[in-house]
Amino acid sequence: MKIGFIGLGNMGAPMATNLMKAGHAVTGFDLAAAMPEGVARAETAAMAAADQEVVITMLPNGAILRSVAQEVLPEMAAGSVLLDCSTVDVESARAVADMAAASGVLALDAPVSGGTGGASAGTLTFMVGGSDDAFAIAAPLFEIMGQKAVHCGASGAGQAAKICNNMILGITMAGTCEAFALADKLGLDRGKMFDVVSTSSGYSWSMNAYCPAPGVGPQSPADNDYRPGFAAELMLKDLRLSQQAAGAVDADTPMGQRATEIYEAFVMHEDGKGMDFSALLPRFAARGRS
Ligand code: NAD
Repeated sequence: MKIGFIGLGNMGAPMATNLMKAGHAVTGFDLAAAMPEGVARAETAAMAAADQEVVITMLPNGAILRSVAQEVLPEMAAGSVLLDCSTVDVESARAVADMAAASGVLALDAPVSGGTGGASAGTLTFMVGGSDDAFAIAAPLFEIMGQKAVHCGASGAGQAAKICNNMILGITMAGTCEAFALADKLGLDRGKMFDVVSTSSGYSWSMNAYCPAPGVGPQSPADNDYRPGFAAELMLKDLRLSQQAAGAVDADTPMGQRATEIYEAFVMHEDGKGMDFSALLPRFAARGRS
């Protein structure tokens, strides 16, 4: 396929590389990042998008996505696909899908989980919103860049799935970290705590697969001085999107709200920026109740 790829940062660059290695012709554009080897550089986003069968975007936020979509859609042929893999607000995803429909372009919102490791290994999970036709066109690309693609529903459904998943993740990680900190103060060994909880009803991905305690459980960023991994500020971004969405549809999400506040304090006032999101454990461990 002829593919345009806009936004070749930490995630986009390895995704584009995998597409290129699988034999697709990839033309890229990024405001700042260098092109990975084998990806042709276009001078503008519009030039990267012209005459492509699929244009993939992997951008920081919804406002940037909207402005890039405005620029590239007039260059795209009717029936081609605008495939956004960024994590953005549901409203922006739906607005871009409407703009695309007005140009006869098919749109998919397809945020990912799996992080930069998954992007490099081609093992991302895609959560996809949009039409069946668009999904069918993009399916072979999901197979290259990922290990699983779930068609969640109409436009916006992919972003909805992503922020609900990550809201659970933020809540369970905060809960797991505060429980370890409590266990410390109760004199309970962290290894014993892991042994019990990872096979009891308190288990979760945060405990079992990504244990926030160094030297306990499987290898995780905790074993690497909490270098990310999944950075606390990216978790904060997703939690804020969950609360923005909850506000828009009047959903009561008190746990998500509290997790958002905790990550906000951690990232903005407590040197959490640049740390893995599991570094809430030393944060809780160093604090008392007040
Ligand atoms: P990044 O900042 O490394 O990359 C974004 C790229 O977009 C940058 O290279 C930037 O120069 C480029 N860009 C910004 N504005 C642009 C414009 N107008 N035109 C062209 N290029 C532009 O970020 P990332 O880590 O690659 O994340 C990308 C998206 O993936 C985000 O929405 C993020 O939330 C999501 N995501 C990231 C991870 C992760 O672990 N990094 C995991 C899942 C999802």
